[in-house]
Amino acid sequence: MGQGHRPDRRLVSWKNLIDPATGVYCDRLDPSGVGQFLLTPLNSSIPYWSTGVWNGKSFAAVPEMAGSDLFLTTTFVHNDQEKYMILNLVDETTVTRNVVDISGQSKQFIWSEGSQDWTMIYAQPKAPCDVYAICGPFTICNDNVFPYCTCMEGFSIASPEDWELEDRTSGCSRNTLLDCISNKSITNTTDKFYSVPCVKLPQNAPEVEAAASASECAQVCLSNCSCTAYSFNDDRCCTWHDELFNIRAQQCSGTTTGETLYVRVSAKDYNRLKNKRKDIVIGVAIGAGLFALILLIMILRIKRKSSGHIPDGVRGFNGIIAFGFSDLQRATNKFTDKLGAGSFGAVFKGFIDESIAVAVKRLDGAYQGEKQFRAEVSSIGTIQHINLVKLVGFCCEGSKRLLVYEYMPNSSLDVHLFQINSTTLNWTARYQIALGVARGLAYLHESCRDCIIHCDIKPENILLDGSFTPKIADFGMAKLLGRGFSRVITTMRGTVGYLAPEWIAGVAITPKVDVYSYGMVLLEIISGRRNACAPCSSCGNLDVYFPVHAAHKLLEGEVGSLVDQMLHVDVNLDEAELACKVACWCIQDDEFHRPTMGEVVQILEGRVEIGMPPVPRLLQAMAGSSHSP
Ligand code: ADP
Ligand code: MG
Repeated sequence: MGQGHRPDRRLVSWKNLIDPATGVYCDRLDPSGVGQFLLTPLNSSIPYWSTGVWNGKSFAAVPEMAGSDLFLTTTFVHNDQEKYMILNLVDETTVTRNVVDISGQSKQFIWSEGSQDWTMIYAQPKAPCDVYAICGPFTICNDNVFPYCTCMEGFSIASPEDWELEDRTSGCSRNTLLDCISNKSITNTTDKFYSVPCVKLPQNAPEVEAAASASECAQVCLSNCSCTAYSFNDDRCCTWHDELFNIRAQQCSGTTTGETLYVRVSAKDYNRLKNKRKDIVIGVAIGAGLFALILLIMILRIKRKSSGHIPDGVRGFNGIIAFGFSDLQRATNKFTDKLGAGSFGAVFKGFIDESIAVAVKRLDGAYQGEKQFRAEVSSIGTIQHINLVKLVGFCCEGSKRLLVYEYMPNSSLDVHLFQINSTTLNWTARYQIALGVARGLAYLHESCRDCIIHCDIKPENILLDGSFTPKIADFGMAKLLGRGFSRVITTMRGTVGYLAPEWIAGVAITPKVDVYSYGMVLLEIISGRRNACAPCSSCGNLDVYFPVHAAHKLLEGEVGSLVDQMLHVDVNLDEAELACKVACWCIQDDEFHRPTMGEVVQILEGRVEIGMPPVPRLLQAMAGSSHSP
């Protein structure tokens, strides 16, 4: 894409999944001359997303470009004569392509040899419903469900074959024609309106009408046969004509109520809808009544059983205690003894039952609704293993969400590995910790009823009990936090840490992301230093990233130089070499080359042998491949 001396090019989406004919979305330079790229419908110049202007390092709306990208560096050239963008590959053998997808998103892919498939590393705009008219007319777009496009009530998919191929330009059409159209009469129309609450109103400019009340507003709409919907908010009457586009579901709770749209349908469709809603209401009422009765019986039973034992809360079905917020305030002495804070909130020490020490995690931000949260807590509560931190209880009151865990007196692994004034963990303890963490993860991945991917393995989430047995913390957070979790994780895009490349690329996640993070942590257990604290002062070469250095030294048979100097000679070198091999297999670029956690356990236990791992190519490329063996 470019302008000026370069040919004026733009990217246009395909018609559908299989037909490369011209589609409806386009990526182009801003025709007004501003140095930015725009995504627009092909037949319009109004953008639904723009990169923002170039600031020398990145486009304003894509700040992550400025970070050390794993695959590409971007430069935007703009002067009086010409404007164009250059993408340089970090590793020249990488194969990459950039498209405007039929989803209207600008996407970048790289070819993965291992899986013989394209891996997506970039997509904008992130929310599918941000794309103009993505679901077509008379639809509702909801970013939080899949599939995200549905027809409005009283409408059906206009062309199921096109819809199947993700060409939704024809959207949905009426089940029954409006009365004013079929009877060609405006004066005596029987058309009616039904409400669609909690939405973002259609973007195409509405007509603002003079009407003093909602019913007057409805009347104004009825008097014009092309009027398909109205809204009446803050004493303002708006009407929409012909096709409705871009109606978006909002997440409504106590404070955010969204807006309500009134949609016009024929009397026939209206009656059908009313009956359907009535059936649902009756069903829900009966269900709720029965549920309340069962709940009452259960609570009475639980109260009888646990009376006297747990004064601070109600013990649930699998031993998980439901605390009131005031119980936890009391238990933590009003949240005074802070153990630490992470991306999702802070952790405080407390006591329940006077003497049992607990760690109370207070979650910040907007999280799962109450029902979902309780369901996830109870499913996490059933997961128990010697190498997993036990969930003791929870609190779910209003918007407050807290989790109560058993307290780990020896804190987290980072404290022992990286803090200068901490006592050094000896080699045997380190090896046992590595093995315990592998067992805990293998259990999460393979032995639980539903496979759980941890997604956030790092030394801060490996806690140590009184006898230094490792216990993995924060498993199941992805489920508890819903969309909030991936938001926090993906904002770390571009940072070289414990995140596997496929995580950063935003593609489907498998348990192998945990294997990768585990490999990174294992290297830190061996070396006693953070991988990420570049440059590598003990490598003898200041430009080398420690994991890459370790992979080279392993191949050269010099594992001794990688082990924490604090251990002096007190190291089992055979174990150290084995641990190093495992770590380097775990951090391979291609998830298919990494072992499973079950295999890691068997290797560390000495029951299965492994060969020499190759140097991870991506990490090598990122580190500038300046290692000279
Ligand atoms: P992060 O894991 O990113 O550090 P968290 O909010 O999960 O953030 O935890 C903050 C800190 O609190 C941890 O690093 C750990 O040192 C401490 N911590 C968490 N849970 C416990 C626990 N059950 N017992 C003792 N300390 C804990
Ligand atoms: Mg944590």
